[in-house]
Amino acid sequence: MLPADVPGAPRYQRCHSHTAQCAPMLSTMGSSSADDAMPERPGPTRIYLSPPDVGQLEEAYVLEAVRSGWIAPLGPQVDAFENELAARCQRQHAVALSSGTAALHLALLELGARPESLVIVPTLTFVATANAVLYTGATPVFVDCDSNTGNLDPELLTKALGTLLTEEGRTVSAVISVDLLGKCADHAAIQDVCARYGVPILEDAAEALGALAAGHPAGSLGAASVLSFNGNKIMTTSGGGALLTNDGRVAARARYLSTQARQSAIHYEHTELGYNYRMSNLLAAVGRAQLQRLNDMLQRRRAIREHYASIFTATPGVRIFQREGDEHDNCWLTAILVDKGRAGWDTQSLRAHLDACNIESRPLWKPMHRQPLYRGSRSFLTGSSDKLFDTGLALPSGSGMQPGEIRRVDDAITEFLRGSQT
Ligand SMILES: *Cc1c(COP(=O)(O)O)cnc(C)c1O
Repeated sequence: MLPADVPGAPRYQRCHSHTAQCAPMLSTMGSSSADDAMPERPGPTRIYLSPPDVGQLEEAYVLEAVRSGWIAPLGPQVDAFENELAARCQRQHAVALSSGTAALHLALLELGARPESLVIVPTLTFVATANAVLYTGATPVFVDCDSNTGNLDPELLTKALGTLLTEEGRTVSAVISVDLLGKCADHAAIQDVCARYGVPILEDAAEALGALAAGHPAGSLGAASVLSFNGNKIMTTSGGGALLTNDGRVAARARYLSTQARQSAIHYEHTELGYNYRMSNLLAAVGRAQLQRLNDMLQRRRAIREHYASIFTATPGVRIFQREGDEHDNCWLTAILVDKGRAGWDTQSLRAHLDACNIESRPLWKPMHRQPLYRGSRSFLTGSSDKLFDTGLALPSGSGMQPGEIRRVDDAITEFLRGSQT
């Protein structure tokens, strides 16, 4: 079943987000006059990996928020959004924030990350996971992934904690577990290891809203979890995030620190360093509409996954990443893994072909231990993340993809595969 055939799928115009990205390119095309007509873009518009899927329901919610007079900073939409998020993720508390990165930062502060302490970070992740550790002054230690899921390898985590805590007597403030591309990590195994060593878990579920791990929702693991509502995530508030926890004190502290750590005095009294990290009432309205549509959007992403699986089913050397046991993943991004020896081609050549067809595709996250920013960082490695980075390619997976766009991606891949046959 194609995504567009999912019953109840909304039928609004997709918001095309290419304008901003084209602007710098157009301005270098020899035209110095602002009055010159913008040149016509040749060919079809670009198909993105995971653009915002926003329409009439979001519009209605925002309009209602605007008309209510509650624009910012806080308001009833923020309160309602927090309650709905907490319920969805089976948590006692949700705190709506300006980004997932801000949520990671505050959660780490509350877990005691500080200069001299270490934080375990999966090496296969988006850079924000590691950057939040640096914000606190703590030092990230990178741990490699399971080769099938791309998520934190529990055995290697055991080895890392044994080395750092038992052998070296270091302080480890937290273990961050990332649910990569919408597949939950092995929560049970990670919980076991962390309980044994007495280290709290921070779940980076930025990519995983809507996924389940053995019946438990992404966002319910450990001392605190983090969600992201950035524009390319499973659902968006244009930009935003949330911190989830069962600890009322952590939630209260996050609310306090995210509003400049202002004491309850008429004048502005401050005893601690705070941040401006709260989500506005208008953006929470977008989030509430998106949350209401989340199940439909998940269904459409899954249908796209199934579609790719059918396209590549007879292609030697190609498999769908994280395919095994993906019934409860959120299918945020569907990626393929290509064995160049068997396929006769590599991901770079497919990526170049798709790009020429104005279709975006992208390698998996470049592991943190290979990033110039983190050069020289302590790392526990097996080679799994390196291999995934070298062989993986994420394909357009947006829940708002229209039938015509899916056909264009199909045609481009089919053409490529035909041309690559030897
Ligand atoms: C997107 C993302 C973040 C950061 O979220 P923002 O809302 O963009 O700040 C953190 N961790 C992971 C794994 C992500 O994919």
